[in-house]
Amino acid sequence: MNYKNITVAGSGVLGYQIAFQAAFHNFNVTVYDINDEMLAKAKAKFPKMCAAFKRDLNASDADLAVAFDNLKYSSNLAEAVKDADLLIEAVPENPAIKIDFYTKLAKVAVEKTVFATNSSTLLPSQFAEVTGRPSQFLALHFANDIWRNNTAEIMGHSGTNPAIFNDVVAFAKAIGMLALPLQKEQPGYILNSLLVPFLGAATDLLVKEVAEPQTIDKTWMKATGAPIGPFAILDIVGINTVYNINKMASEKSKNPLKIKTTEFLKENFIDTNKLGVSTGEGFYTYPNPAYKEDDFLS
Ligand code: NAD
Repeated sequence: MNYKNITVAGSGVLGYQIAFQAAFHNFNVTVYDINDEMLAKAKAKFPKMCAAFKRDLNASDADLAVAFDNLKYSSNLAEAVKDADLLIEAVPENPAIKIDFYTKLAKVAVEKTVFATNSSTLLPSQFAEVTGRPSQFLALHFANDIWRNNTAEIMGHSGTNPAIFNDVVAFAKAIGMLALPLQKEQPGYILNSLLVPFLGAATDLLVKEVAEPQTIDKTWMKATGAPIGPFAILDIVGINTVYNINKMASEKSKNPLKIKTTEFLKENFIDTNKLGVSTGEGFYTYPNPAYKEDDFLS
């Protein structure tokens, strides 16, 4: 892998984090967004990132100054990608917006540039043709709070060149990620293929009144040695996100248990603004949730 110049397209929740992470690891990074106002908004978030890098990674002022030196900004797509080895796309999770973006990008990007999508729920095969370079296109999926939750799932489509796949795995490692290569396309990648059914099984047990949330968490923690259980995870993910996933699934499947779960979450959590860690209360209360107490498992 001899990437040096990285362009990050979309400077929202994930994009500015990816840009800062790559700049911190000494890549030349150009941040691209639809206009200068969006770029100014992203820039304003970097001081917060610095505080997080100091707190969580012991980053020094000198390290952070290097990261800032490595960052450039442009709202002109052709200019932003003119010498990019790798473009990481973090535009909104909307197929029409992504198709429009790749169509424009294909017209201006130089031949060497590899394109990677950070999409959480869409598959690279959906966009491979419109990129104009299917063999140089794949998914590189980061998690929110990238510097701390430093996973990178790398997933090609059937036409991705294996050498390019390996380069992107090496790049992910070079920016401090735990690289997690997938051997084929999978909706939800590895993490959500595991997590969504797991959390769904936990809420099924609750809504069927089989056991209380804390009993379910204790079972999982004691029996497997896991540090937290599914209801603690639900609080971290955010009950609004879980509610939205359940609502969509229940509307599609008409499964009575999922409908009941959706109603249960709405009445007990959404309508009362108990959304989990973000609002200070969900299945547990914060900052000192019961599952962290010494006697929780005794
Ligand atoms: P966001 O809405 O916070 O940011 C999107 C950014 O893209 C905005 O700054 C917007 O101005 C910009 N944008 C819109 N159209 C554009 C275009 N044509 N060209 C360039 N920029 C454009 O979204 P987000 O949460 O950062 O998500 C971006 C991608 O990252 C999505 O595919 C999402 O699935 C994925 N992702 C998000 C998270 C998360 O926790 N938010 C986690 C992992 C992956």
